[in-house]
Amino acid sequence: MGNPRNINWRCLRRPFFIALFFLGLATVAFAERRERLIDKWRPLHYQVSLAFNPELTEVARAETKITILVLKESLGILDLDFGEMPVDGVSVGGAPAAFEQKDGRLNVTLTPAPRPNERLLVTVTYHGKPANGLALTNDKDHQPSATGDNWPDRVHHWIPSLDHLSAKASVTFNVTAPAQHLVVANGQLSAQRANPDGTRTWTYTESKPIPPYCMIVAVGRFAVMTPLLPSKVAPLTYYVPPSERGLARRGFGAAPPSLNYLTRLVGPFPYEKLAHIVGATRFGGMENSGAIVYSSTLFNPRENEPLYPGFGVRRGLVEVIAHETAHQWFGDSVTPATWADLWLSEGFATYFAGLFVQQHVSEQAFREFMRRSAETYFKYEQTRRAPIHDRETEDLFKLLNGNNYQKGAWVLHMLRAQLRDAAFFRGVRAYYAKHQHATATTEDLRVAFERASGKNLRDFFQRWVYESGHPQYQFSWTWEMGSAPPRGTLALTLKQTQENEPFLTPVPVDIVMPGATQPRRLMLTPTGRETMLKLPLASRPSAVQIDPRNTILKEVSAEPQAEKKVAAIPHSTGSTPLFFAP
Ligand SMILES: [Zn+2]
Repeated sequence: MGNPRNINWRCLRRPFFIALFFLGLATVAFAERRERLIDKWRPLHYQVSLAFNPELTEVARAETKITILVLKESLGILDLDFGEMPVDGVSVGGAPAAFEQKDGRLNVTLTPAPRPNERLLVTVTYHGKPANGLALTNDKDHQPSATGDNWPDRVHHWIPSLDHLSAKASVTFNVTAPAQHLVVANGQLSAQRANPDGTRTWTYTESKPIPPYCMIVAVGRFAVMTPLLPSKVAPLTYYVPPSERGLARRGFGAAPPSLNYLTRLVGPFPYEKLAHIVGATRFGGMENSGAIVYSSTLFNPRENEPLYPGFGVRRGLVEVIAHETAHQWFGDSVTPATWADLWLSEGFATYFAGLFVQQHVSEQAFREFMRRSAETYFKYEQTRRAPIHDRETEDLFKLLNGNNYQKGAWVLHMLRAQLRDAAFFRGVRAYYAKHQHATATTEDLRVAFERASGKNLRDFFQRWVYESGHPQYQFSWTWEMGSAPPRGTLALTLKQTQENEPFLTPVPVDIVMPGATQPRRLMLTPTGRETMLKLPLASRPSAVQIDPRNTILKEVSAEPQAEKKVAAIPHSTGSTPLFFAP
């Protein structure tokens, strides 16, 4: 739970909460966000048929068939999430059913009430223009297009569904559009047919369960490109506006190696194919399973953004492609069980993009990546102090923050440093293998790392994930000459000046002796706000460095004591690799 001092004022938005607050019941300010529970029924499969009008400005006819599994006794109403598209009819098992469309729900009456473990086929027919989730816009070349863009819970504006990330299901799309348009969706293209009215119907089948926010169709006048060397991992295709045909192969240059790298590092690619699409999304990139969509500005040059050698494109382009590719494993295949576990998606995608940079650009680029991540997180933390595992924030878009991305990546980086590469990647692979095509919690990840390393990580997860902040160290050292010089005592003092509880994470310290080629490394394990360690030494060190390889997310300041020799080096500039190459 969050520190009670960190009142999340945004939780007080709702008049209900404000009223209770002023009645003196302040504890409701920390009310947990209510997430939709999957305790009455769950979707197993969606079959979504969409027929667009010729201008792609609306869905002329839509039909979604949902196979559901009943979980509880006396389920009289099936409460589908659904937006405001007009419903033409609902049937259950082929028989017309009564329904009510209200407040973002489509409540379907089930008579007689089904029994637990029964499967039902519910069919909803509807039409119109969705208010959200399916963008019907012109593309970069001013051509009509339709693109699903559903994170975090906007798919119900165009597909009646259970719109919570953990309600994963397989999906088949039948999309009918004018013949000049191409259609791409999740899964494998299993059929394509020309219709007498000049339209074409495309059928894509995603056989693996995917989170609802990853369900997508993209319709438009795309140029279709493939990498020069076909991918051995899975079919890899680029869909771009025709005017960007010449940019696609170089622009998506990071796509083949990141697909290969993640497959080697984590496990087999989870889906039937991977499409990278320049289309319409409100995000820089959206990781829909097997069909990643990027914003239309993806290939635009950015001023002041360095190029990554080897790729010849701007840094952010390589990083976003690696990030969205990593999501196919982390987020799409292993999906966070609740929104509080979002870092299992965003922290992993961020860190594994960093690992790709370490492997395919340079060690220095990786260090720079982690440094930028730390700075982004520090800036975020100045605006809000909350744990990564955030159970309070109501507006899910506000979870796209420095905690879930950059601090989440740093948590993984710190675990890697503490467990070492072999145990860390063993833990990652075991976690992935156990939870693929399913969901996972933060506790599942902790258990996987504990099993892989044999270490107890409860305190680490408690302090870094379930509580807020980061260590702000004040570090100093003094040398006291002994009675028989040059022998003496080195005294190290580590203070933690952050507002909240101390971090007990062991801190590496390098002691540099005059003339020695290698520093002596020791671990200083904090016991509280102030930790002191005395060490007898043969002679006075020439320097003492705290966390020289930058393996802890921290800020360091020198203790203001003029007569003491102070060493505080927050970032290493060395060129030896950080850990073993994965
Ligand atoms: Zn992401």
